Amino acid sequence: MFNLLPKKPDSLLQQLFFIFSPKQTDAMRTHLVFAALSLYQLSSTAQTPYFQQEVNYTIRATLNDTAHTLQAHVRIEYTNHSPHPLTEIWMHLWPNAYQNRRTAFCRQRLHQRKTDFYFAPDSMLGYISQLNFQINQQPIAWKYHPQHPDIALLTLPEPLPPGGRMVIETPYFLKIPHTFSRLGHEGQSYQISQWYPKPAVYDAKGWHPMPYLEVGEFYSEFGSFDVELTLPANYVVGATGVLQTPEEQAFLEQKITETEAFLAQLLPPADKPARKSPNATGAFPPSSPEMKTIRFKAEKVHDFAWFADKRYRVLREVATLPSGRQVVCWAMFTDAQAHWWKRAAFFIRRTLSFYSENIGEYPWPQATAVEGALNAGGGMEYPMITVIAEVSSEKTLDQVIAHEVGHNWFYGILATNERDCGWMDEGVNTYYESRYMKTYYGQEDSALPSVGRWLLPESDISLDNLAILTLARVGADIPPHSPIEAFSELNYFAQVYGKPSLFLRWVEQAAGRPLLDRAMQHYYKEWQFRHPYPDDLRAAWKAVGLEADWFFEAMNTRSAFDMALRKVRRQADGSYALRVKNSGSLSAPFSISAVDKSGRILQTQWYPAVQHSGVVRFPEVEAHALVLDAEKHTFDLYRSNNTRRTKGLLSGMPPLQVQPVALFERSNRTVVGASPWVAWNNY
Ligand SMILES: [Zn+2]
Repeated sequence: MFNLLPKKPDSLLQQLFFIFSPKQTDAMRTHLVFAALSLYQLSSTAQTPYFQQEVNYTIRATLNDTAHTLQAHVRIEYTNHSPHPLTEIWMHLWPNAYQNRRTAFCRQRLHQRKTDFYFAPDSMLGYISQLNFQINQQPIAWKYHPQHPDIALLTLPEPLPPGGRMVIETPYFLKIPHTFSRLGHEGQSYQISQWYPKPAVYDAKGWHPMPYLEVGEFYSEFGSFDVELTLPANYVVGATGVLQTPEEQAFLEQKITETEAFLAQLLPPADKPARKSPNATGAFPPSSPEMKTIRFKAEKVHDFAWFADKRYRVLREVATLPSGRQVVCWAMFTDAQAHWWKRAAFFIRRTLSFYSENIGEYPWPQATAVEGALNAGGGMEYPMITVIAEVSSEKTLDQVIAHEVGHNWFYGILATNERDCGWMDEGVNTYYESRYMKTYYGQEDSALPSVGRWLLPESDISLDNLAILTLARVGADIPPHSPIEAFSELNYFAQVYGKPSLFLRWVEQAAGRPLLDRAMQHYYKEWQFRHPYPDDLRAAWKAVGLEADWFFEAMNTRSAFDMALRKVRRQADGSYALRVKNSGSLSAPFSISAVDKSGRILQTQWYPAVQHSGVVRFPEVEAHALVLDAEKHTFDLYRSNNTRRTKGLLSGMPPLQVQPVALFERSNRTVVGASPWVAWNNY
């Protein structure tokens, strides 16, 4: 998922200031306590060796686009690869998250002060019904979870032994909700995800049933999908998997031809901004009275989503991966967004190449991005397909596509438990997304929206860095690896997306990009199509010689890093002896740079972690000052003690600066707070 923060441009700053208001602090703490939702069931299986279950789906569904419903049937072939006999199966029925106003989803939204779902008329809600579970064609006993109508427990008529296989099937009826979060429709535009009964993961840690949430994602078993969709013939459908229906392939070819002609007349004159299509009113053409049935097949995936819209334009490109294998890239969008989407298939192709080269090759035959309604962020990932909400620039679209298509690696292929270890997909993926943006736009784009720049004229620290620093300084941060109910919305964004991404860049700088890349490529090879946990990532790194236990400590704890440069002594040979002190609880590698009078970096050297204090050497150089972490690649809590001039009195005091809002620092100046309403000492 991309960009969780509310769209209101000033909201990030409001949330940061919110932390400082004494009246609000208690309320916020209370919110952090938030009713526990965790269903995490740790059993005595903690020492069980790795295994994973296999779940293959066959789904048949017919869309009624007047009533906004699906009539469907699912057949689930479940193979027990665990060493234990199974007597029951936890089953997710996530459409029931929209069933009433008491679900975990609704409670979480209220907690985030989002009331649209709570006050929505019943006609906009959704649910799954007409369930009649059978196992191996025998009716079985099943019941809803006592607290969560979107989870059921199926009792097996007889235990499924290790190695055993069974078929679970049921008809079902799906009332598609309005798109409040992910699954839904806006008019006759359909976003169909989390839409079928789905067994929870059973792994070496036990069962992982979880209610649907908007913030806090998913965990699913690998298998195959064979999906047949029946709907009016003039819908364009993007889906997980490979299209099997020749008539539909011809229909898409026709759409591509029409789209190219449409875009040719849309092209703006070079000196004017792109103009909107005159047809971009969003009106739906009437549905064809004729129905069509189209079929998709997918292998080695853990989810299946599809998106249908009669207005979609279609573009296609073909990516050639490093091995020479080709992947078809599809972009589907409406006229309203056509001016931003005309290069979308190219952005998908470029992302596939970028991630394939840096991490490991994309394994599936196609990748699709569709424009669609989404109220859970700016984009949402599913295997082989991603949905992207309205964008306002081509660059933003490229960034969201890079992020969401990138999730094919960190979620789709390396299928972590996102609910419990969200940083392993969002944080690691954000790191690669920022590398992509730096490669193609020359700067590392903040993971946060660029809001309130006018308030930060003197700040040379990126906003995401600033958000995480601010939370840590006031003690309002939590470890990235925390139970989902412990996160405020801002902390989720800062700790799950921002912090791991920035810390990975720190690992990259300290260990060198080639070693980090080798380590991540090894992780990819070892864990593709499996369920890695943090210890597996750590072991994969160690296997190729990347030792970075401090990184994992930072993911698991609130340990902070606070280095200071205490003394500089010139040695007889021209080199320097520097006394450094670590006042923080995290010991991690750090760098020292020699800078000239203008602050230009002359030379940088990295050092291994220092526990409390120590003396390090810097080679001979004529420098104005020596600066700890001059390139800002570490996560130093306070930077005002990082600079030592090589000569002169008061060599440790950086130049004085008065700033209107002292919360925002300029890291190489001593900041004096001059704001009447918020004061913050930079010490
Ligand atoms: Zn994401």
